[in-house]
Amino acid sequence: MQAIVAPNRLEEAIDFALMHGLIKFNAGFQLVHAPFSLTPYSLSKDTLDQMVTLTPIFNELMLRIASNRDFLINYLEQTAHTDEFVKNLIAIYIEKEITQPYQFLIGRNDFMLAVNSSGLLQPKQVEYNTISVSFPYLSVQLNQLHQFLYEHQALGQKLVANDPLTGIVDAIALVIRQYDHPESCVLQIVQTREQNLFDQRGGEYLLWQKYRIPTIRMTLEDVANHAVCREGHLMVQGKIAAVTYLRAGYSPADYQTEDAWKGRRLIESSSSISVPSVAMQLAGMKKIQQVLTDSRVLQEFVKVENVQKIAETFVGMYQLDETLESKGQADLAKNIVRHFPDKYVLKPQREGGGNNFFDQEMVTLLQSLNKEEYPAYILMERIEAQEHQAILVVEGKTQETSCISEVGCYGVCLAKENDILLNQDVGYLVRTKAADQNEGGVCAGYACLNSLCVD
Ligand code: ADP
Ligand code: MG
Repeated sequence: MQAIVAPNRLEEAIDFALMHGLIKFNAGFQLVHAPFSLTPYSLSKDTLDQMVTLTPIFNELMLRIASNRDFLINYLEQTAHTDEFVKNLIAIYIEKEITQPYQFLIGRNDFMLAVNSSGLLQPKQVEYNTISVSFPYLSVQLNQLHQFLYEHQALGQKLVANDPLTGIVDAIALVIRQYDHPESCVLQIVQTREQNLFDQRGGEYLLWQKYRIPTIRMTLEDVANHAVCREGHLMVQGKIAAVTYLRAGYSPADYQTEDAWKGRRLIESSSSISVPSVAMQLAGMKKIQQVLTDSRVLQEFVKVENVQKIAETFVGMYQLDETLESKGQADLAKNIVRHFPDKYVLKPQREGGGNNFFDQEMVTLLQSLNKEEYPAYILMERIEAQEHQAILVVEGKTQETSCISEVGCYGVCLAKENDILLNQDVGYLVRTKAADQNEGGVCAGYACLNSLCVD
């Protein structure tokens, strides 16, 4: 462990967190500090550089996939037969006329660091998120908190400065300039009861302070009932929504009424630059991630020199009815997994945490599925992430425990037709959780925000 903050500084850390907006609502909707680690996650500069270098490469990959209608429909069609959510998204995608030459991505590429046979750390991709990436604001505040604490106490290593929010806000401002219309705003799509409200507010306030760009918050239902499409523009409260920024809409829970779907359809059929578009949301599906583990498919989308760099971050991903070899015997993936439940994760096409199946629960579900339901899921090899000691602070209480960390790289990318106008890595997210926890969400209560330090 790199640093231990003296216990008498815990109170100071919590006060700093509360005062600087490192806050969220807990499950009971009380305002609390966001869970955080007192001990930054340490890795080598080379490993960090490797992940950061991959961000623009992955951004471009997602962009190319989102622009390839035949590819998306071909690989998601089967899933849509059994997954109502995917089916509804595809329906909107298919009926969409191309109304907008821009594709805008605010993404995050999530990795765990696995220890290879030579003892070296290797980044392995958990997933690339193309919708509603969380914590750009809270990550900045947490980084400030760590800087404050470690100015008082030697860390031994260098804390890696982090500010993904500015990169994201600058990108949104650039997109608004491209839209080039006075009286325009950002329409931010939100849930009605959002535990992570302040992370969203942080972005809204910076957009206003730095660029005088207003943000209007609406649910998808609000859009259906209060927004209109005029000469192609999406109009909200008398303003043009040049950018529609979805911080909701990634889960079936956000579409409980027909109006919510109507709202999404209205956004998609307007010329508002939606981040993400339905196409980009579909490109981020776990099924697509699985398909890309076949290098022949990957080669269709990325430059030859990048194929290997991307492929070496992948672990095995399989369809349930794919034939695999195990101990010299061939069998279906779903059967092989039964014998090694701790080596795999079963994933549906969902985002937001808490949706995956692990261990016995995975085995039980696999046994109960009928053939038609197979395409709704993919199997992923479990990443054996490096374990490290950390001190976690959750609602004022500390716990020192063996942990694993997930490092995400935020990226922004903007293209007009095939021309890429912006493509950058803009900062990182670290989520540290107890090693015996399977899932990883911060608001879901599994993980704590953290910073990186390097040699
Ligand atoms: P979601 O879209 O819900 O965020 P993820 O694919 O990111 O789904 O998985 C959620 C969490 O489950 C991750 O943050 C990670 O903690 C854990 N997880 C997912 N895939 C793996 C894997 N292959 N190996 C180990 N843990 C995993
Ligand atoms: Mg995730």
